Amino acid sequence: MKTIKDLDINSKKVLIRVDFNVPIKDGKITDDSRIRGALKTIKYAIDKNAKVILFSHLGRVKEKSDLKKNDLSIVVPRLSELLNQKVLFSSNTRGEQLENIINNMKEKEVLLIQNTRYEDLDGKKESSNEEELGAYWASLGDVFINDAFGTIHRAHASNCGIAKHLPSAFGFLVENELSHLSELDNPERPYVVILGGAKVSDKIEVIENLVTKADKILIGGAMSFTFLSACGINVGKSLVDNENIEFCRRMLKDYNEKIVLPIDTNAAKSLEDENAIEMPVSNILPEYIGLDIGTKTIENYKEILKNSKTVVWNGPLGVYESNIYIRGTKEIMEYLVNNKIKTILGGGDIVAAASVLNLKDKVYHASTGGGATLEFLEGKELPGIISIEK
Ligand code: AMP
Repeated sequence: MKTIKDLDINSKKVLIRVDFNVPIKDGKITDDSRIRGALKTIKYAIDKNAKVILFSHLGRVKEKSDLKKNDLSIVVPRLSELLNQKVLFSSNTRGEQLENIINNMKEKEVLLIQNTRYEDLDGKKESSNEEELGAYWASLGDVFINDAFGTIHRAHASNCGIAKHLPSAFGFLVENELSHLSELDNPERPYVVILGGAKVSDKIEVIENLVTKADKILIGGAMSFTFLSACGINVGKSLVDNENIEFCRRMLKDYNEKIVLPIDTNAAKSLEDENAIEMPVSNILPEYIGLDIGTKTIENYKEILKNSKTVVWNGPLGVYESNIYIRGTKEIMEYLVNNKIKTILGGGDIVAAASVLNLKDKVYHASTGGGATLEFLEGKELPGIISIEK
């Protein structure tokens, strides 16, 4: 894997694609993890006396009214604070103002360029990887570093477009992600996949890819009720993805030995109903909704996980946003952590659940990508990776 360490960046103009797509509420950044995630690469470039030029998107820009709320200058004060130095900002994504700032930059200075998706307003130039835009941005620097794992599954001008024209490599954040995730190409066995979350439709390709590679797939979350329906079980008012019952039936037929379904569920009449009851999945009362895996399922899943050497987990096993229905996810995650089982959390809600449970730093790897991690687990080639490797 070619990383920033493999390129000569001394005193060069180094273009770095970072992921500063931070959550914002009432005009304030509510979580700065993404900014902190890019610091190692930025600091490395500063140490090498580079002139550091940062690109990132923020939100989506479809119409003029999206510009103000997605103004990337919101990141500048926090980034300055974390780097302990002034950060320059260009309010334009191209043109004289931007070029002047770059021409006047001194070594070790850091410049953040306005939201790359401002270029989407006029013909989706960023998101469609318009050739001219990638070439223009590349002309602003000497080398390119992609450290935005969150957009590595997209071919945008600010990643693939620039990479095409300059010596390019991955930053430390992307290197860390890829080195952990690629362990799944040749996992130590038994290799167990845990899949939960809401809809089967979002996970079809993940299931199809991982079912061929894993030794066992443990199903939880609302998704399990679509599988149970496919077995002809009446699941009461639990969430069922009717369009994918046939898919689940096929999976269960072809991979009967591998796919493991819940034995029981913790169910209630609604999320607000405080009288949750555990019931076997074979006997879910008609007016009840299964909201978490039950005690017997937790024990069964622990028993299967006991001997596992590698675990990848995508999607919570219950409605983890509630402190009642987070239990299944909590018990299984604690079990994995306490038994030091190599566990990779595959982005999105399962990582959010790990944060709530204060276990995120204790698992072997918690992937930061949402869609990017999912596409990796689907076995797809990711454009941001290919553009650097080729
Ligand atoms: P996903 O984005 O597919 O990983 O789905 C995550 C969502 O699935 C979370 O918001 C959970 O609340 C939800 N979820 C998990 N288990 C259930 C369940 N049994 N019934 C309804 N929603 C669930």
